[in-house]
Amino acid sequence: MSTSLLAWKETLEDLGLMGLAPSPMSRMALSKPLSKPLSNPMSKFPADGSLTASGYQGRPRSQDFQANPGSERPPFSMSDVSERRDSSVSLPHMPQREKTTTSLRGAASDWKAPDDPMKNPPQQAIDECQTLEELNARICRCEACPLCLDRIKFVFGEGAPTARMMFVGEGPGRDEDIHGRPFVGRAGALLDKMIAALGMERSDVYIANVVKCRPPDNRTPFTTESQTCLRYLYRQVELIKPAVMVGLGATPLRELAGITTGITKVRGVWRTVAIAGREIPFLPTFHPAYVLRQYTKEVRQAVWEDLQLAQKRADSPINSSQG
Ligand code: SF4
Repeated sequence: MSTSLLAWKETLEDLGLMGLAPSPMSRMALSKPLSKPLSNPMSKFPADGSLTASGYQGRPRSQDFQANPGSERPPFSMSDVSERRDSSVSLPHMPQREKTTTSLRGAASDWKAPDDPMKNPPQQAIDECQTLEELNARICRCEACPLCLDRIKFVFGEGAPTARMMFVGEGPGRDEDIHGRPFVGRAGALLDKMIAALGMERSDVYIANVVKCRPPDNRTPFTTESQTCLRYLYRQVELIKPAVMVGLGATPLRELAGITTGITKVRGVWRTVAIAGREIPFLPTFHPAYVLRQYTKEVRQAVWEDLQLAQKRADSPINSSQG
């Protein structure tokens, strides 16, 4: 068995989803008929070679999951996440904070954005960026809001530049601030597992945050900070053109959809966000960090159903024409 198939098998076993989720290899094969029948005994895909895009029935749906109440295991397991967390933060040396124009910590109350266009890029400079790499290079020294005072690393976002699913979280936490990557640490490991359960990899989607710098003590970003930073996320969305966006937690729901109702009441209900002339389906769900705090089968089941809903819409032909 190849390494990728083995990893897929282990992931599904860990999640208690063996036989329910499609192999990543099968996703690659959707566009063409298989040359010979599938013989993998783990697979529940048709063994007659009829696995084509039109006939594909293999993806698990929420009702499939509910139709298997005999499974004692919830959809997401964190059995190996604590180990990953340890390895991800045990750095030999803590990185130093970036030097900012204002080196006085606690100067947030009388913050004034710098005039330097490298530290506070004008909108035109952002609009002129034609790739994510260009945009990252243009904004990574941003000091437009006081969150730059406490950051170790700017966290741009990562993933497929043409991803159909885009996840948007609140902002970097401690691990993300250290590594300069979104959703690492325990919450990130859980998000990876959710994505794997959908039959995808992290590199198949795009992951970003409302704010690119870590708020002190992981507090919720102030609306002024979020609104200052959102123009970067908007440009990312404009370049990526995702078919759907999944909002993780209350902050993207508030800042992107303008909804302040509690996430528990509105998760799983489609909204629309208008960015650069496109109306993009937006589905709010729980933040992985919340799932870790409320680690019940019900919460995990809710997120799992939301993600399947988002994937189904991302794959629908209607959304393909919006690209
Ligand atoms: S949070 Fe955004 S706007 Fe504020 S300093 Fe960081 S990149 Fe700039």
